[in-house]
Amino acid sequence: MPVSVVTGGAGFLGSHLCERLLDAGHRVWCLDNLDTGSLTNIAHLRQDGFTFVNHDVTEHIDIPGDVDFVLHFASPASPIDYLRLPLQTLKVGSYGTHNALGLAKAKRARFLIASTSEVYGDPLIHPQPESYWGNVNPIGPRGVYDEAKRYAEAMTMAYHRQQGVDTAIVRIFNTYGPRMRAFDGRAIPTFVRQALEDKPITVFGTGQQTRSFCYVDDLVSGILALAFSTEHEPVNIGNPGEFTLLELAELVVELTGSKSEIVFEALPVNDPQQRRPDISRAQELLGWEPTIELREGLQRLLDESSRAELTGRVVGA
Ligand code: NAD
Repeated sequence: MPVSVVTGGAGFLGSHLCERLLDAGHRVWCLDNLDTGSLTNIAHLRQDGFTFVNHDVTEHIDIPGDVDFVLHFASPASPIDYLRLPLQTLKVGSYGTHNALGLAKAKRARFLIASTSEVYGDPLIHPQPESYWGNVNPIGPRGVYDEAKRYAEAMTMAYHRQQGVDTAIVRIFNTYGPRMRAFDGRAIPTFVRQALEDKPITVFGTGQQTRSFCYVDDLVSGILALAFSTEHEPVNIGNPGEFTLLELAELVVELTGSKSEIVFEALPVNDPQQRRPDISRAQELLGWEPTIELREGLQRLLDESSRAELTGRVVGA
C-alpha cells in the first residue's frame, strides 16, 4: 500500500487530496496545525489508513515507517489569511518546505510542492506559461505569500539538483469547491455568501480584472497525475476559461436567483490585472485538462454544500 504524507491536509485543497489518495488505496498521514484548516474538513476521512497529526511543519517532521509521497500543501493561501499571518506564511514556505523536503529525502519519497500562479505576480505575459519568471513586488503586502512560494520553488529545485530528491512543483491557479470558508475573502465564496443573503456583492475596482477558476475535482486529478509522473519542472494546473470579476459576480447572482446588487470597492494593493494558465505542459506531459466549466462547477458547489457552510452561519449559533 503506498504511503502519502499531506501537509496542510485539513485545509480546503489538502482535505480533497487526502480523500482522493484514500480512494486510490493510499495510507495517508495528514499533518496540520489548524491555523486556517479545520477538523470538520477531515471528519469524514476518519478510517483505517488515515492518521491526523496536529503538527506545525515549521518544526521537524517525524513519520514512522516508509513514505512514498510527500505532498506539501501547508500554507495560508487566501489574502485575508496571509496578510493576517505574514510571518507564519514566510516560515511555512521556508522552514516548512525545508522540513518537508528533508522528510522526502530521508524516506526516498517523491515530493510535490503546492506552488501558485501568484509566482507570476501581476503578469506582463498573457496567458502565463511556466517559462515566464513573473512580475512580483517583493516588499508589497502580498510579497509574503508570493516570495515564500518563489523561495519554496527555489529550495525544491536545489534539493533536486544537489541532493537528488525526486521533486515536483505544481503551480495552482484559483480553485474553488466545497469546503472553502465563507469568510476567507476569495472571490467565489465571498460572492456566493453575499448572494445567498441578498447582500451587496462587493467587486474590487471596476471588476474588469480577470481570473481563471478551476473546480477542485479537476485540480486534484491534475495534481495526482503530476505526483505519479516523473516530471521535475513546474507544471501549471488550472482552468484556462477566463472571466472578469464582474462576469463572475453576474453568474453567481443568476445561479443563486439572488436579489443582490453589485457594488464596487477599492482595488487591493498589487492586485493582478489578469490571470490565465497556459496548460500546454500539463496537456502534453500528463494528458490532463479540466473538464468542469465555471457554470457547472458553481452549480455543483451550490448543490453539494449546505446553506450554513456557504454563508458561514453555524446552525443554532
Ligand atoms: P487552506 O488555508 O484551506 O489550507 C492550508 C492548510 O495548511 C490549512 O489547513 C492550515 O491549517 C495548514 N497550515 C498552515 N500553516 C501550517 C503549518 N505551519 N503547519 C501545518 N499546517 C499548516 O488553503 P488551500 O486553499 O487549501 O491551499 C492549500 C495549498 O495550495 C497552499 O499551499 C496554497 O498556497 C496552495 N494554493 C491554493 C490555491 C487555491 O486556489 N485554493 C491556489 C494556489 C495555491
